[in-house]
Amino acid sequence: MNKHQPLTSLMPGHRSLWCEAAFHLDVHPYSPSLKAEIISAAQRGDLATIRELIESGNATVNDRDEQNVTPLHWAAINAQLATCRYLIEQGADIDAVGGDLQATPLQWAARNGYLYVIHLLISHNADPTFADTQGYNSLHLVTHSSSVMPLLYLLHQPVNVDSRDMQGHTPLMWAAYQGDALSVDLLLKHGANPNLKDDSGLTPLHWAVVRGNRAILRRFVEMGADIHAKDLDDRTPRDMAIELKSFGAWKRAMEEGGMNEFGVVKAKPLNERNTRIAIFVFPAIFLYIIFITLSILPWYTGIVLAMAEFFALHHIVTRVLLNKDSYVGTVNQSPYFAGIIAGSMIWVGYAWLTRLVRQTPDHPFIHLAFALNFGLCIYNFFRAITLDPGACPRPVNDGELKAIIEDLASEGRLNGQTFCIQCMARKPLRSKHCRVCDRCVARSDHHCPWIWNCVGANNHRQFLMFVTTLVVGIVLFDYLAYELFTTATPPDTLPTDCSTIFCVPATVDPFLLSVSLWSTLQLIWTSVLLVTQYWQVARQLTTLEVSNLGRYGFMGGRGGMAAGGGATGLQMGHRHQHLTSNDRGDEDSEAEGGHKHHHHRGICGALSAPGTCTAFLLNLLGFDRFTRGRAAHGLALGSSSARARNPFDLGMVRNCRDFWTMGKELGVEYGQVYDVPAEGFQEAKKKRELERGELERDHDSSGRNKSLLGKLGLRMGMGSSRRGYEPLSQV
Ligand SMILES: [Zn+2]
Ligand SMILES: [Zn+2]
Repeated sequence: MNKHQPLTSLMPGHRSLWCEAAFHLDVHPYSPSLKAEIISAAQRGDLATIRELIESGNATVNDRDEQNVTPLHWAAINAQLATCRYLIEQGADIDAVGGDLQATPLQWAARNGYLYVIHLLISHNADPTFADTQGYNSLHLVTHSSSVMPLLYLLHQPVNVDSRDMQGHTPLMWAAYQGDALSVDLLLKHGANPNLKDDSGLTPLHWAVVRGNRAILRRFVEMGADIHAKDLDDRTPRDMAIELKSFGAWKRAMEEGGMNEFGVVKAKPLNERNTRIAIFVFPAIFLYIIFITLSILPWYTGIVLAMAEFFALHHIVTRVLLNKDSYVGTVNQSPYFAGIIAGSMIWVGYAWLTRLVRQTPDHPFIHLAFALNFGLCIYNFFRAITLDPGACPRPVNDGELKAIIEDLASEGRLNGQTFCIQCMARKPLRSKHCRVCDRCVARSDHHCPWIWNCVGANNHRQFLMFVTTLVVGIVLFDYLAYELFTTATPPDTLPTDCSTIFCVPATVDPFLLSVSLWSTLQLIWTSVLLVTQYWQVARQLTTLEVSNLGRYGFMGGRGGMAAGGGATGLQMGHRHQHLTSNDRGDEDSEAEGGHKHHHHRGICGALSAPGTCTAFLLNLLGFDRFTRGRAAHGLALGSSSARARNPFDLGMVRNCRDFWTMGKELGVEYGQVYDVPAEGFQEAKKKRELERGELERDHDSSGRNKSLLGKLGLRMGMGSSRRGYEPLSQV
């Protein structure tokens, strides 16, 4: 610009002024070098330098660099929380507009998903609705950052969830396009409209097809997005899926939403309730058919036919009753596996009543023990199924939710470990969100398809009792069956070359033999499960914690940072980074949690999993939890350093007592424990008891005193009533 300045303006008189100005520029407080210094100090978060510059008057908080950007912008985009706070305290313009895109510091922070900077700026009245030259407001930008917690925070600020950018895109379209399933979920939960169209007539569903993320597609379908919406070129999302080669994801998402590829709802043969009942009952019927098959036919044809019958059962459950297109991964939410357990129990009980009781009368105590075990097993099995595993409380209204989010954000710990995006609720320590049950479960152990429920704080005891009685019951049953077979006289028709141990039983009672072989097969994995469960209870660890121990330490290191909740300033900036990685870690651990479902998914799930024969066997037997991930490392740690970091650990005996009393030993309500007290759980409990004791004592002593006085008074009154004896002279 100076180049084109007319020469005439450089008149001699002006010239001297110009020179003077130029001279002054070198030493003037607002020299470019000092300006640059406050800018670079803001970028680095060098608070000392900034303070010095401001206090000496060499720079102001609203100085701008050559791109017209303020120090607050730079501090915000570099997550320099303490610097931001100082600049704001010194009067920095909170909604200063700068940079190429004419954006505010809030937008710079939002674009990078810096939760605590956003929180700071918003709490100093930054405007979240301000839009830059592209039409993006802070909600768009935070969606671009793919950070869930900052998005959650902004959704509770006064900004329209369906605000549009220059092309009419809403944040929901952006999240769908980016393939951020959690962001999509979050936006939908906060009322984002799944059927708005942008300037080209594309809906969020169209944008989701572009990315081809199955989970997002499914979510849209469930939320009632219009499957037949057409863009300006008359294309439906399905047309686009074919065009963009994401048709596979489209089809699967539709399938999971219970529809065919055209969005026509597939009907199930029975209603929801009857489907569940049928799935629960069918295994019992099929198991009977299988046992009969095995007992009638010779073993080599019997086994083949039995397997075919098992497959038929699986086919009926998945493809007919549930009407799914695939055999795997669709039965987890149904009572299929629980039905297998219940069916097995029925036939074990039947075999015991009709055969063992009659034919082995010399073992009355074993029979009594078996009967007791059997009863306890059934009782605990149904209790484990029907009890609420420990659902964590959810906020009752928006106000409470907002308060929770605000609290966590201002404490600098709004993250995936303290807040559950799916439940929209605080996440207690040691809880986990179960995808099958779709809720957070307190002190979650694992989701167990065999009991069609999660195993958590509230039903873990029943689950463990169930497994214990199951193992003991099978052993007793096998013992009785063994006694029966060894004492039975084999029929004369027995071929002389019959040498295997199964030969006599197979001729004496093939039905009993197949039932006991089937139970013995279950004995393998249940006893492994039992041993690990006892070990974990004694160590005050859950299955999830054991598999995460090696990688993240106990509770992802949360136990250790209990007392550090009040850290501020720079540390918070650091912590934020740290927690971001933890968030990711949490997702990983979710994936890790998923592998356990594998082994519970049983034979079919295991067969479908890619891997070697050994992997399959480990998987089948449930050993994989020790070999997968870094669980083994975690187990080794469990004995030393990790134990020191487990604030819930009370030592073996008291751990067991705590388990049995569901947290009474620690004085913990697992559904609502959000922090480790600085002094530890035991001290906190002692303190509470002491306080309560003192209160009671006070209450007691005052009560006692009162009653004593009353009694004495009464006695006094009765014994020495002075009424009528007062000397008249004194009245
Ligand atoms: Zn949850
Ligand atoms: Zn569950």
